[in-house]
Formats: sequence, C-alpha cells, structure tokens
Amino acid sequence: MTNAQQDQAPRRQLVAGNWKMHGNAALLRNIISNLLDKEDLPEQVDVLLLPPFPYLSLAAELIGDQRLLLGAQNLSEHEQGAYTGEVSADMLSETGCGYVLVGHSERRELYAESDALVAEKFVIAQRAGLRPILCMGETAEQHERELTEVIIARQLQAVIDRAGIGAFATAVLAYEPVWAIGTGKSASPEQAQQVHAFIRQTIADVDARIAGQIQILYGGSVKPDNAADLFVQTDIDGGLIGGAALHADQFMEICNAG
Ligand code: PEP
Repeated sequence: MTNAQQDQAPRRQLVAGNWKMHGNAALLRNIISNLLDKEDLPEQVDVLLLPPFPYLSLAAELIGDQRLLLGAQNLSEHEQGAYTGEVSADMLSETGCGYVLVGHSERRELYAESDALVAEKFVIAQRAGLRPILCMGETAEQHERELTEVIIARQLQAVIDRAGIGAFATAVLAYEPVWAIGTGKSASPEQAQQVHAFIRQTIADVDARIAGQIQILYGGSVKPDNAADLFVQTDIDGGLIGGAALHADQFMEICNAG
C-alpha cells in the first residue's frame, strides 16, 4: 500500500469507451440502449462514452438524465478563434460533455502533440469545466529499454508544472502503454499495477490527498477476459477501452468487471 492509499474513501471505478474514428449513429444507439437496458451495472462503476465529435449531441440526447457520462476524444488548445476544423472546450461543454481525453498516444504520435501542448489542452479543458483524462504511456522501444517510469514521469510533470497539482483534483489519469493499444497484447495486471502505483506515488510526493482520490485508468487491449484481473488491482480504477468498446456486449461485460 502506498502512502497515498491510507485513510482514503474507496475510489469509484470508471470505464470509458474510446471509439476513435469508428462507428456511426446506429452503433451509438445500440450501445446506449444496451447500457440503459441493463439494470445490473455495478453501483461503484461509472460508464463514460467517448464517441467522435459528430455524435456527441445525439449521445447527449439519448443519455438524457440517465447515469451514463459523456466526453470527447480531443479539443483545441485555443479558447476560440479562426482555427478551422477545431473544436473548443466550451463547445464540448455546451454539447453535454463532462470529460475529454488529452494526450492519447495517437494524438502524441500521429499529430505530433508535445507534452507542452497536452498540458495546454489540459488547462483549457478545465477552464471550461471539463474533466481532462490525461493519457500517458511508453512505446514498445521505451518499454524494452526500461524507460517506462522516465517517460511517465516526464509526461506527468509537464502537466503538473503547467496546471499545478491542485488541478489534478478534478482530473483523471490513464496509463496506456503504447505497445498494448490495439495490439491484443495487454500489460499483465502486475505490470500495470506497478506503473499505476508509480503514478500515484509521484502525485503523492506532491499532494497525498489528491493522490489518494485520483482515478487512474488502465488502457491497452482490455477485453472481457482480462478486465476483472486488471480492475481488481489496488491502483487501477477502471479502464480506457478502444476496440472492445465498439461491441455492445463486450463493452457491457467490461463495465460489469469494474
Ligand atoms: C485506446 O484507444 O485508448 C485503447 C486502449 O485501445 P484498445 O483497447 O483497442 O487497445
């Protein structure tokens, strides 16, 4: 048990489905009706949907006042202005989002988002009342070179420096080893727990209270058959799910594993 875990109320679990650029309105309707039909979602689990931008309004409408959460996969680092094609934090907030991903490895890799840009997006999200989910993780090469903690510490510190540790009271963290995303090769529960404990301890070194309450999700090939073993780990508070979130039945099973 880390220092951060002593004398803390139990953290709720959060299971988030990141569709990336997949799916359509029919899939959204199917997934939401599946989730809303079932009355057996565990009480301690919150379910967050992260569909592509064009489906956010429909998702908000379908969710209504039910207990599902809604978020976006990305946002602009600017508050407003002549940024063709971009979407602002206020727009997301007005559309019904409560959460937004920042620093997903696909944004870092494919769109060259730097630690500084990710930190900017984190700040802008919070300014609009959104909870950023800060994604962090090492590549396969960094993993092989045993640089996991170095990389995570760097990605985390950039945001602590820009936003201040207090900002983490209304944020979520996600450990997503890049080598496990979409590869079918998940980190083992022990491997993931070790990195999650490191992340929590890094926060605890600055603020033990925030470290004890912050949710740290695991993402990277979470499936119905490995979700429960991952989610039961002390420092794993749910998952960020890609591929399996596109299948209503699999996503439901993963939510039930929380
Ligand atoms: C993700 O997109 O963040 C992710 C973890 O994907 P997958 O579950 O498919 O590995």
